Amino acid sequence: MLDVVKEVLISEEELKQRVAELGKQISEDYRGEDVVLVCVLKGAVMFFSDLARHITGNVTLDFISCSSYGSSTVSSGVVRILKDLDRPVEGKNVVVVEDIVDTGTTLHYLLKNLKSRNAKSVRLAALLNKPDRRKVDVHVDYQGFVIPDYFVVGYGLDYDEKYRQLPYVGVLKEEVYQ
Ligand code: 5GP
Ligand code: MG
Ligand code: MG
Repeated sequence: MLDVVKEVLISEEELKQRVAELGKQISEDYRGEDVVLVCVLKGAVMFFSDLARHITGNVTLDFISCSSYGSSTVSSGVVRILKDLDRPVEGKNVVVVEDIVDTGTTLHYLLKNLKSRNAKSVRLAALLNKPDRRKVDVHVDYQGFVIPDYFVVGYGLDYDEKYRQLPYVGVLKEEVYQ
């Protein structure tokens, strides 16, 4: 375990098992239908690539990147698309793949934006959910784990762009922030 990590919250093995279950569920729900799997960069990258490998049927992959204005700790509620999808999603079944739903601000905007493109359906797969922090209502269709209000890193999630490569989800030591 990395010395800046206080505690492993979700192990590599638990992640592997849960992601496989979610992939199976998505495959069953979309049997006989095409799906566009949308990765929300960069935090969802590990979850996305593992999940995609468990989805059978006709799947295409696309990527989107957004940022919210404001300071790094306080989200302003205004979201900006930095890199848009490569292809239109009109008439398609979209599954948005995100690392974590915290206040819900980012996803509220993103889901609304994708729906406005006349997709056939838009659903959300989120690896982690921190319901205690919610400010805007967001429905999570495929949820990995509900976690307490800890700041977590690893498996795609960063602190100052670091620790994304960790194979587990861990809680950072307080001293790292100070
Ligand atoms: P929201 O718009 O839901 O408040 O924020 C979502 C984004 O904030 C996530 O996609 C993620 O990038 C970041 N975030 C929220 N909670 C955490 C956390 O515990 N750890 C990390 N590394 N990022 C988080
Ligand atoms: Mg994210
Ligand atoms: Mg981040």
